[in-house]
Amino acid sequence: MIKFSIITIFPQMFDNIFQYGIINQAIKKKIININIFDLRNYSTYKRKKVDDKIYGGGSGMLLMFLPLFRAVNHIKKKFKEPSLVIYLTPQGKLLNYNNVKNFIKKKHLIFICGRYKGIDERFLKTQVDEEWSIGDYILTGGEIPAMVFIDTITRMIPSALNNKNSLLEESFNNKLLDYPNYTRPKKINNKIVPKILLSGNHAKIKKWRLKHSIKNTILKKPHLLKNKFK
Ligand code: SAM
Repeated sequence: MIKFSIITIFPQMFDNIFQYGIINQAIKKKIININIFDLRNYSTYKRKKVDDKIYGGGSGMLLMFLPLFRAVNHIKKKFKEPSLVIYLTPQGKLLNYNNVKNFIKKKHLIFICGRYKGIDERFLKTQVDEEWSIGDYILTGGEIPAMVFIDTITRMIPSALNNKNSLLEESFNNKLLDYPNYTRPKKINNKIVPKILLSGNHAKIKKWRLKHSIKNTILKKPHLLKNKFK
């Protein structure tokens, strides 16, 4: 089982997100376990304050060292498994299909969701093991990145998927994009499902799919092919 712990000032954002589909099933099957921690509960300041102005001036607030430190220590004591503390930040390493796989070997991931201008640098330098980003753009907080991480890590665990072949037949596996897929009806206006997919000839269908995977990759993400033949 992989445990996920999330430290956030907006715990309600996670109320429903994990109650659907594969993630919900993985929780029920005890393949994953998700725990949300409200940063304000770890504040010893007045009115559960967790942020303050930035030294040197400038706009925005910063999450303070102490509540974050107390939250992480509490979580580490509560769950005995070895943990990895991840700060979600646009400055971090970019998450992609290949590096997601490394997380499924971990026992416990603790995600720090930043807000405002981020977190105190001293927390980053002394308490954070890794910094990760979900893209080269700025979001308002780390909550959506935490959701993205948990979603994509979970579906990389073969036992979490009803059909394990799904992992083999999807985009990025083998550095190719997925092939085109069709479902009922056979005809929509003048658009008809390619005949070969209706033929029942599995060898020919496999060949057609590979050809179209390569075509899709060349047209949409040619950089994948460049890396494939390295
Ligand atoms: N001042 C920070 C900077 O320029 O690097 C950005 C702060 S951002 C407005 C607030 C929080 O959102 C960050 O602390 C981080 O936790 C989260 N965040 C924003 N964009 C993100 C991204 N692309 N990936 C992961 N987390 C992100």
